[in-house]
Amino acid sequence: MKALYQHGQYAAQKTVTFIGPRSRIISNLRILGPCREINQVELAFTDGISLGFDIPVRASGHITGTPGCMLMAPGGFLELPEGVIRAAPHVHMHPDDDDFHGVKAGDFARLQVGGDCGMTFDRVLVRTLPDFKLEVHIDTDEGNACGLGPSTPCQLLT
Ligand SMILES: [Zn+2]
Repeated sequence: MKALYQHGQYAAQKTVTFIGPRSRIISNLRILGPCREINQVELAFTDGISLGFDIPVRASGHITGTPGCMLMAPGGFLELPEGVIRAAPHVHMHPDDDDFHGVKAGDFARLQVGGDCGMTFDRVLVRTLPDFKLEVHIDTDEGNACGLGPSTPCQLLT
């Protein structure tokens, strides 16, 4: 459907239906690519409430011991024994960004969001790879909580 800001990453046209505990579902869950070593599903805290289960906050790819689910698409079903996470707020950085901000992969930065509902996120995980471009990822709950919009001023504090 469209390329994402991070090099080579994209949002696919295809979506899946998430089937959680007690057969509660979320429709039209977007597939992100390219394929990874493992499959994971990233949901927001509100999704967990509506589905009736706790979703652990994890860094992408750290899915050991997380809940599983069933995914349904026109081509069939995929059962994930684990992999449902709430993605930890994180910042993608190139190694040059690490140097500039004085941080390294695995550190936590702070994100100060301005505006009428301004707030500060204290645990924004630093993720560093040579392919990464500087970009913060928070989920819909976190963005909505601080009224984040295209013109909301933000500052990364390290
Ligand atoms: Zn990300």
